Amino acid sequence: MKELVLPLPDEAATVTLGASLAKLCDRASVIYLYGDLGAGKTTFSRGFLQALGHVGNVKSPTYTLVEPYALHPLAVYHFDLYRLADPEELEFMGIRDYFAHDAICLVEWPQQGVGILPAPDLELHLSYHDEGRCAKLQAVSAYGSQLLDRIHERQG
Ligand code: ADP
Ligand code: MG
Repeated sequence: MKELVLPLPDEAATVTLGASLAKLCDRASVIYLYGDLGAGKTTFSRGFLQALGHVGNVKSPTYTLVEPYALHPLAVYHFDLYRLADPEELEFMGIRDYFAHDAICLVEWPQQGVGILPAPDLELHLSYHDEGRCAKLQAVSAYGSQLLDRIHERQG
């Protein structure tokens, strides 16, 4: 499956989508998170991280650019590139090391890192829809496509 559109009527639905995907991600992967400010990228990330055992709040690492989470079975790196002035900065912070690790990378504002970030497995596009949000998941890699198949099955 290449693309899946899901309604997210409330915040809990965004959290649940993050949690569902986290439970299915069983190998190193890269997920790009697109959407305007307030669209729910960090909310999705919180659902994802808490499903893997993170306890407590999750805030966008706007100033530090990345927040590492040592979780099982895989570590998760949560990026927020909103304030990145120049994609070259990613080279200075050793971006390649993060992506070389056996880890899951969640990337808010990936368009800020074009040319330096590795390609994703999956893209999540969040948009405002009435009082809630709409999620469009797009598979980029074969693994991303498998993840979409599994999400789709679970929607039943
Ligand atoms: P972003 O990281 O994209 O800037 P945040 O996740 O920080 O966005 O903030 C999203 C805001 O919208 C939060 O206040 C959250 O409670 C709310 N929210 C998240 N998902 C939904 C949804 N599906 N419907 C309505 N409100 C939502
Ligand atoms: Mg955010």
